[in-house]
Amino acid sequence: MAMPTVAFIGRPNVGKSTIFNRIAGDRISIVEDTPGVTRDRIYSHGEWLTTKFAMIDTGGIQISDAPFSTQIKSQAEIAIDEADVIVFIVSGKEGVTRDDEQVAKILYRSNKPVVLAVNKVDNPENRENIYDFYSLGFGDPMPISGVHGLGIGDLLDKVVEAFPKVDDQIDNDDIRFSIIGRPNVGKSSLVNAILGEDRVIVSDIAGTTRDAIDTRFEADGIKFTMVDTAGIRKRGKVYENTERYSVMRAMKAIDQSSVILFVINAEEGIREQDKKVAGYAHEAGKAIITVVNKWDTLKKTNHTQQDFETLIRNEFQYMAYSPIIFVSAVTKQRIEKLPQLIKQVYDNHEKRVQSSALNDVIMDAVAVHPTPTVNGKRLRIYYATQVKAGPPTFVVFVNNPDLMHFSYVRFLENQIRENFDFSGTPIKIIKRSRK
Ligand code: GDP
Ligand code: GDP
Repeated sequence: MAMPTVAFIGRPNVGKSTIFNRIAGDRISIVEDTPGVTRDRIYSHGEWLTTKFAMIDTGGIQISDAPFSTQIKSQAEIAIDEADVIVFIVSGKEGVTRDDEQVAKILYRSNKPVVLAVNKVDNPENRENIYDFYSLGFGDPMPISGVHGLGIGDLLDKVVEAFPKVDDQIDNDDIRFSIIGRPNVGKSSLVNAILGEDRVIVSDIAGTTRDAIDTRFEADGIKFTMVDTAGIRKRGKVYENTERYSVMRAMKAIDQSSVILFVINAEEGIREQDKKVAGYAHEAGKAIITVVNKWDTLKKTNHTQQDFETLIRNEFQYMAYSPIIFVSAVTKQRIEKLPQLIKQVYDNHEKRVQSSALNDVIMDAVAVHPTPTVNGKRLRIYYATQVKAGPPTFVVFVNNPDLMHFSYVRFLENQIRENFDFSGTPIKIIKRSRK
């Protein structure tokens, strides 16, 4: 779960997002000759040989109306704070510029490994141009072409080599969770409320990067690691309240957790950014608790809670499994219920059910609600089995997967949920034809 992170940094237009999108692997974003058009995502995953990693395109985090020096300083700070390895990208077409030198100067001050990539070396004949870049002081420049996909493998070899060794990363049985939500919903206040007086804070083990930002504690006899607590504490940096930064930060924390406390501000209701983050957590297969904070601020009647619940269920229909809890970090209302609730959804997320019991449920479901017929062909379900937990993932063997539409998959999911307690966790159903 602890995936290393690589960040791309460089002045505008050197090709950061082109390279990011190429490594992210899909070809959804077509690279056009207009700067900025490729930049629809700033956080994604990559894989090289057997190593999976997270990637940040720092060029996508911009502070509106700030001058170049502020922009680049913020982007470099983000790279230094968030990444295990930094890829500094320059352009072989233009040679070393003063802006490149400015970026280099900020990166000197970090202790993070920096790999220097000279992009736009589309033609091997131009490779001589790369020697100028030794002057930046980051060792051998790697010639690449983001557009043509040249040199990317060599670059990634170097990046992967510089990642921290696996044994530097913590490995324990703690329940890992993170607190996610827009700025000002009360995440820091919730951290303090959860860590309250009588929780045992398990001491930080010095020396690893992860420990600096994660907090271990024990509550009700259960061991937890709260992921990315440092990201929640205010550090007063200019970029912290930009939406793209906080979404990126949330995605990164979600990747490192099993359980997500998705926090909504009762005073403000639901916003677009909330949906982006919740959608990511759902797609990533994480257990999710919906926490409505600042519950103390509402004047309540006897249907306020019901109304709020209906609103949430409407906005997040795909997350019907997520329990909703109404809390106040200030008055501590219901905060004491959170450790048990986290444990409960975690257990469901890791749950495995017996094949025999599962198949009884599936066969009963088929008996009640016969499989559909498409163009005279009837869907036949032979067998189902759970292949994975975290989240629970089921394979259903059928005669022809095309005959099993979304609505029938949904029906089976509901039947499974009615018979086994999977509250708090998404479940995945994979249809496969029996050979
Ligand atoms: P960013 O601002 O650093 O993210 O740069 P972009 O990825 O948006 O690229 C800026 C421009 O450079 C776009 O027009 C790209 O098509 C172009 N570009 C990116 N990589 C290469 C490359 O390897 N060779 C050439 N010739 N152009 C490139
Ligand atoms: P963050 O940006 O999500 O970490 O939010 P903070 O924890 O910094 O809280 C933002 C503001 O909301 C602060 O002024 C908090 O005192 C306030 N706040 C947080 N939780 C609650 C709550 O449950 N009730 C009330 N009334 N205010 C809260």
